[in-house]
Amino acid sequence: MDEVLQKVEDNREEMKETLMDLIRIPAIGPDNDGEGEKEKADFLMKILDDFGFDSIERYDAEDERVQSGIRPNIVATKEGKVDRSLAIVTHMDIVPEGDLDEWDTDPFDPVFKDGKIYGRGSEDNGQELVASIYAVKALSEAEVKPHYTIKVMMVSDEETGSEYGVKHILDEGVVDEDDLVIAPDHSEEKGKKIEIVEKSGLWTKIEVHGKQGHAAMPGQTVNANRIIARYQNLVDEELRHEFDDEDDLFSPPVSTFEPTKRLANVPNVNSVPGKETQFFDCRVLPSISLSKVKKVFRGAADEFEDETKAEIDIEYVRESEAPEGTPEDSEVIKDLKSAIEDITFFEPEVAGIGGGTVAKYFREKDIPTAVWCSNEVLAHQPNEYAVLDYIVRDCKVFAKMAVKE
Ligand SMILES: [Zn+2]
Repeated sequence: MDEVLQKVEDNREEMKETLMDLIRIPAIGPDNDGEGEKEKADFLMKILDDFGFDSIERYDAEDERVQSGIRPNIVATKEGKVDRSLAIVTHMDIVPEGDLDEWDTDPFDPVFKDGKIYGRGSEDNGQELVASIYAVKALSEAEVKPHYTIKVMMVSDEETGSEYGVKHILDEGVVDEDDLVIAPDHSEEKGKKIEIVEKSGLWTKIEVHGKQGHAAMPGQTVNANRIIARYQNLVDEELRHEFDDEDDLFSPPVSTFEPTKRLANVPNVNSVPGKETQFFDCRVLPSISLSKVKKVFRGAADEFEDETKAEIDIEYVRESEAPEGTPEDSEVIKDLKSAIEDITFFEPEVAGIGGGTVAKYFREKDIPTAVWCSNEVLAHQPNEYAVLDYIVRDCKVFAKMAVKE
């Protein structure tokens, strides 16, 4: 194993260069009006050739919205002593750069400074893609056959729904139920926590239809503003009262129900608004079913419909029921923990998060999945960077875990 770790160190410079090459090929999905996943996949296919993989397969999904007609997905396999696989899933696609004025450097012309690689997609998710392929390269160079068969999976479409990425390769049966899966695409406390469970998510849109009119004659109006304000208070209180369970795995340990976006109503002060639209972002502990939460939203709306002459429409614009979490005593968590301890000398803890990783799709199929990596949580921000030391460290953890020694 020492030789493998030494090989990782020897490849430090090359890992940096590879990540910088990847940043130079922006891969933005068509939902974000972009292109480039195919080009990035082509680049990877070329370099992976001499990493010592036993097979490199493509599971591309068809999508006529992109010029190439495909959304590429790569599965590179290195045989281990057992058939059972350690699958490491990262994504090739990135989010757009956003406001260029906010960037100190060109997001697609990477810069290396003070041990950090700056550029869009450096942290999310290029650094872990690089760490995963170089773990295999180090094993090959040291001529060490890993215990687990390693499947390095590089997918498209993570940033825009995973329909053409993770969901597609899962449908193709690339991963088995007894495989161990790591999705290194979210970091808690720079790698000190392993995410094993997430909250359910519910975005609620509430539309109050009242009757607009002159503010001097409120009797002839149905003030949607007053109704939405009262509704918001009532539902807010009821939700927090009814769903007050706590789970210390999460931070915060409770479900959250935040009133967020509100659409503009009338442009002038002396009109009573006849329509108001209010959104809630809800993150719900997995022990609570979303149907119960919806009942509270609807129940409160019914009360106001009875009391006033307003009509209240509710739409759930996004809804994601969290699958059961990955057990703390499952092999993927135990093996990952011990590899992290051996490499970093700290003892990672397990944790839950507010939601939003691809782990969900694996867990829905009862495939135990850990979300873990080391980073500074800069995803989607301007001046995003990756820390080279973390890439090297995570690479060692992946190699160590695969060898299982
Ligand atoms: Zn990501």
